[in-house]
Amino acid sequence: MHRIPVACRLLGHRWDFWREGRTIRWACERGCAEGGAREYSTEEEARRYGRHLVRKPGPPNALLAAPRCAARSASAP
Ligand SMILES: [Zn+2]
Repeated sequence: MHRIPVACRLLGHRWDFWREGRTIRWACERGCAEGGAREYSTEEEARRYGRHLVRKPGPPNALLAAPRCAARSASAP
């Protein structure tokens, strides 16, 4: 078994998707060797699918990346 980064264990993998012709590939952005590929019958189908995958909501790591300080800074001059 390969090592899984702590962040991946806690928050889940952070998938990065890209398309290679008719194949959609994905891998974890943290470089933990997790990933895969799926081939579609046409390039158009792969493109359509890839768009959905990129938009797929990820794990709740957005909470860590973007702390909600907008409301506080809005009241300050
Ligand atoms: Zn990972």
